[in-house]
Amino acid sequence: MIQTVSVIGAGTMGTGIAQASALGGCRVLLYDVAEEFVQRSLATMHKQMDEGVARKKIAPEAAEAAKESVRSTLSLTEAADADLIIEAAPEKLELKRELFAQLDALAPARTIFASNTSSLSINALAAATRRADRFVGLHFFNPAHLMPLVEVIPADSTSDETLHAVTDYVLRIKKTPVRCKDTPAFIVNRVARPFYGEALRLLGEGAADVPTIDALMESVGFKMGPFRLIDLIGCDVNFAVTQSVYEAYFQDPKYRPHPIQRRMVESGRLGRKTKKGFYDYE
Ligand code: NAD
Repeated sequence: MIQTVSVIGAGTMGTGIAQASALGGCRVLLYDVAEEFVQRSLATMHKQMDEGVARKKIAPEAAEAAKESVRSTLSLTEAADADLIIEAAPEKLELKRELFAQLDALAPARTIFASNTSSLSINALAAATRRADRFVGLHFFNPAHLMPLVEVIPADSTSDETLHAVTDYVLRIKKTPVRCKDTPAFIVNRVARPFYGEALRLLGEGAADVPTIDALMESVGFKMGPFRLIDLIGCDVNFAVTQSVYEAYFQDPKYRPHPIQRRMVESGRLGRKTKKGFYDYE
């Protein structure tokens, strides 16, 4: 049974995954490349749990216990010693493959590796290790401490034992596992591609402005319009995923990224995390 979880990358997703795992009764180790990132993540996590207590969604004792069960480290060697390692580092194939290769050399044989990638091939990531039978995709949704869905994506080599163990973990942290095939962007992100793509094209053509497009989509029942959602995801993450899906489908024009995405990233307007994106959050 998975009892200890290391989360690699304490950004938007790593923070939520660590929080959900701690509240689900796991001991969690949070790894990032600099102290400021893990400290920011811990502060966000504590704030989110306090909000959960205030809204009576989390019992005060459960929040206290969860806070105590999360530790942080800057040592990959220390982070490698866990039942399950969930990687939530930037959406770059080579960076993730490199990380998994390093972790593979450090982790005990029992450790299961999971990637929270939104779009990269689980088979390509598993191939960077010598534990392809203990490798799986676990795709959480943003905000990960609240959203119940987790796409569970086996590589061709993933063993049934690994799938059972991670499915049991997802259920224990009170989320809903859904089995997906290893296709680019899996199910939800694949279906969502035109939601972002067409909205960006409309904006580029000057058909309507950002608040109008968002307001219209929200008026027909979407919880968030495309631009509000890109700001939540992070313009950099959304752009990286768009590029990766475009390449994975051999540059099918249907998935072509839009120059507006590049402009947002190059100008540092990444969305909520930089307090500026399609909207201003100051
Ligand atoms: P983020 O930019 O918020 O966080 C990434 C973190 O990784 C940062 O804290 C960064 O310091 C850290 N990092 C950088 N290099 C590293 C390294 N070599 N080793 C370990 N950590 C490193 O990104 P995010 O939005 O949390 O996305 C992380 C992953 O989750 C990506 O693969 C992304 O596609 C996926 N994802 C994102 C969303 C979303 O809505 N943002 C949703 C589902 C999945």
